[in-house]
Amino acid sequence: MNTDPRSLIRPLVRRLRPYVPGEQPRTRGLIKLNTNENPYPPSPKVLAAVNAAVDGRLRLYPNPTAQPLREKLARLHDCRPENIIIGNGSDELLALATRAFVEPLGDRSGLAKARASAGTASAGSRHLVQYFTPSYSLYPVLADIHGAAKNGIPLKPDFGLPTVAELRRGGRWDFRAALTFVTTPNAPSGRGYATTELAALCRAQRGVVVLDEAYVDFAGENALALAREHPHVLVSRTFSKAYSLCFQRVGYFVGHPELIAALDRIRDSYNVNGLGQVAALATLDDLPYYRANFARVRATRERVCHELTALGFAVLPSQTNFLLVRPPKLPAREWLARLRARQVLVRWFDTPATAAYLRITIGTDAEMDGLLRAAKAILKAAPHSTSRNR
Ligand SMILES: *Cc1c(COP(=O)(O)O)cnc(C)c1O
Repeated sequence: MNTDPRSLIRPLVRRLRPYVPGEQPRTRGLIKLNTNENPYPPSPKVLAAVNAAVDGRLRLYPNPTAQPLREKLARLHDCRPENIIIGNGSDELLALATRAFVEPLGDRSGLAKARASAGTASAGSRHLVQYFTPSYSLYPVLADIHGAAKNGIPLKPDFGLPTVAELRRGGRWDFRAALTFVTTPNAPSGRGYATTELAALCRAQRGVVVLDEAYVDFAGENALALAREHPHVLVSRTFSKAYSLCFQRVGYFVGHPELIAALDRIRDSYNVNGLGQVAALATLDDLPYYRANFARVRATRERVCHELTALGFAVLPSQTNFLLVRPPKLPAREWLARLRARQVLVRWFDTPATAAYLRITIGTDAEMDGLLRAAKAILKAAPHSTSRNR
């Protein structure tokens, strides 16, 4: 008998539209400014530690709870190891949070489901994953995978955070949502949020709030204190972006021991690979190396912001290692293609709020000079226009 393999797959999974990661090109020689990777390599001490760990011990399982790493992070953040869980990248922890704190909709009538995904009060806040738009595009995917409802509420036109009063007036924000994700500083806009405004939002929420601080090392302030003050607030951090370890997949949450223990209960027993633990531990032994890199990235960011502005780009203020820019003369999508033709890879998000923009990761100074050269050449070849050095 022939079975259609599709019929073996859960309907929810059949319908899923997966997260779309930025391209990792296989051709060499491209200036890669599309996935917010750090342009500087890990510290030589980190590379040495990883190299030294590559021997016959690869046959052994790693520490199941990444205990030495939790202890070291606890000292860094002035909390206890029980306040910390390590993940296979922070992405894994965002998924675990969805599974631990949000009740899936389950088998419900189409009507109830429709109401639920509209995020109305009747949906049942315990089914709801909530976030601002635009922000990290993984959040709605996590809700879909889990079979939860989702509620994406627009940021202000300048990508600022709506105040609690504005959210109340808007009537669509759910202060009881089981799980609320806030990307801070925001991606893809790069905009930073003050701890005071995040604190006000956290105080108003009844469910779990995850402050996703993937880019916080490039910002002027962080909100880690909120995870220590409020039992329902988790702060998410990653070694990927600021600590040049995307390849190793290590991220962590800081929060109340009860929430951390809940996440711990549902994770895989060996979720963090051994070389990742080695690399992260060595990273924490060489923080001055990384602080120097943050300063370099910020300096390059400010220079490129200035130079792109001089070329007629509208550049949004950034507290991250990337810039969101509205290019002149041609549609952003056309810029994406023309930069690509000149070997410069940037990111374009096809959503109404972001389609006019390009997101450009801050690379080395030499890479950014390549970008600026390409931009000037494209402007020169573009249809004539009266805008000159606006
Ligand atoms: C990159 C990124 C992450 C994921 O980081 P990993 O630790 O590599 O999984 C999470 N949140 C945001 C906003 C990011 O940009």
